[in-house]
Amino acid sequence: MKEKPELEKEKKTKPRVKMREQDPLKRIRNFEEVPYGYTPDEAADEASRCLQCKRPTCRNGCPVEVDIPSFIKLIKEGKFIEAAWKVKEKNALPAVCGRICPQEIQCESLCILGKKGEPVAIGNLERFVADYEAEKGGIQIPEKPRPTGRKVAIVGSGPGGLTCAADLIRSGHQVTLFEALHKPGGVLIYGIPEFRLPKVIVEREVEYIKKLGVELVLDAIIGKLYTVDELLNDKGYDACFICIGAGLPIFLGIPGENLNGIYSANEFLTRANLMKAYLFPEYDTPIKRGERVAVFGGGNVAMDAARVALRLGAEKVYLIYRRSEAEMPARKAEIHHAHEEGVEFLLLTNPTRFIDDGKGNVCKVECVRMELGEPDESGRRRPSPIKGSEFQIGIDVAITALGTMANPLLTKTMPDLKLNKRGYIIAEEATGMTSKPGVFAGGDIVTGSATVISAMGAGRRAAKAVNEYLKWRY
Ligand code: FAD
Ligand code: SF4
Repeated sequence: MKEKPELEKEKKTKPRVKMREQDPLKRIRNFEEVPYGYTPDEAADEASRCLQCKRPTCRNGCPVEVDIPSFIKLIKEGKFIEAAWKVKEKNALPAVCGRICPQEIQCESLCILGKKGEPVAIGNLERFVADYEAEKGGIQIPEKPRPTGRKVAIVGSGPGGLTCAADLIRSGHQVTLFEALHKPGGVLIYGIPEFRLPKVIVEREVEYIKKLGVELVLDAIIGKLYTVDELLNDKGYDACFICIGAGLPIFLGIPGENLNGIYSANEFLTRANLMKAYLFPEYDTPIKRGERVAVFGGGNVAMDAARVALRLGAEKVYLIYRRSEAEMPARKAEIHHAHEEGVEFLLLTNPTRFIDDGKGNVCKVECVRMELGEPDESGRRRPSPIKGSEFQIGIDVAITALGTMANPLLTKTMPDLKLNKRGYIIAEEATGMTSKPGVFAGGDIVTGSATVISAMGAGRRAAKAVNEYLKWRY
């Protein structure tokens, strides 16, 4: 039973402080960030809504266990830098998480204020303190612990790898992070667009991890440059954490999919984000700027691809999804932003074939209308085509965002590593321990495509387990 004063306080709560945003008509022609962030006054105002619950339910919704009420209290008291340090005790990437974590289904979904109104804007506050700390130059580097003499290799510098690296270096181990690409950050750098997560923010958080003492080796594809066995047996590493994501795109498998102008969302977003194709010819990566673009899918990746296509100058962007909007896996905020920006949603619609313009380029897509039947194994209602409802749409670019799967490049060099039937690494949820001694794994390569914070949680649990393993072994 809730205590009376808490109920009373709940009744008096003010509405949430809204975050100001760039005007939709302006922002569809630039790559600048959409929300502006809180001012100090706005942050303190929002923080004052928190009830400082004796049993803060919000904390149960944070996979990396941030002490939410304590950091919010510090904001209310105007101690913004201290609030940032409080968050960083548990979360090495607060500016990233404050922007792109699905707080609405995590900490904020468990905030007591949400029962009668809007929960405290925990994500917005987290973003504010991280940005404030960076702006004021108050980034604090914790003291280096006594070296243990042990070396750990981490493969993959996405959010899972970065979190594990930050935790292990603080335990005194020597940590090397191997990354296949020329920039660290994983999906944060190559997938999520600038207007949702500016690259300088990811670079700032990576810089912090480097300052903690983590060594970064870029352009290093493990499985090609070295195998994990070579790292463990020849290069002197005592343990290894594999966090390589699940970046292999899934295609539609329909006729005409090889025509020019058809991209996987991975390729399209990597060209636009990591390789800065939107700044062509200043950056020399070409990308086809379609006038009529069709994006297939209903997740965050589909929303990102649609909104990037608009910013590249498309006149019309269709978001084609085989279920209804209620079943879309994308964050509600991203769906809302896509609507605001003028993306046209063609729901209960599925592509059946692409049509050639006679020169090898896509010029149309044929689609069929769908209807929803009984729920499938995922609990969502299964869509099925309505006979005779086919129709065609004129397009010059198509982007498939149907999800991704495990890339076998590394795992095929590790015959003693157990995989499930879809090629994902089998690892204990609580520890990340795999079938191979000294090898741990986490993030999307274990769970399949998930979220930034779940990969970070896996990185944190694996770091604890690596510590235990090293203690036991030595
Ligand atoms: P990744 O971030 O995929 O990083 C893996 C890294 O390993 C990559 O840098 C890769 O280059 C490297 N690597 C792979 N193989 C090797 C190898 N053999 N050797 C060395 N390095 C290797 N999640 C959210 O929470 N909110 C969102 O809004 C959101 N939006 C998204 C938008 C897009 C476009 C995409 C693609 C994903 C989005 N996600 C979002 C999902 C989220 O980004 C992932 O769940 C998360 O990044 C997984 O983290 P990870 O550390 O497991 O792997
Ligand atoms: Fe309570 Fe919500 Fe504040 Fe957490 S954020 S302490 S649940 S009011």
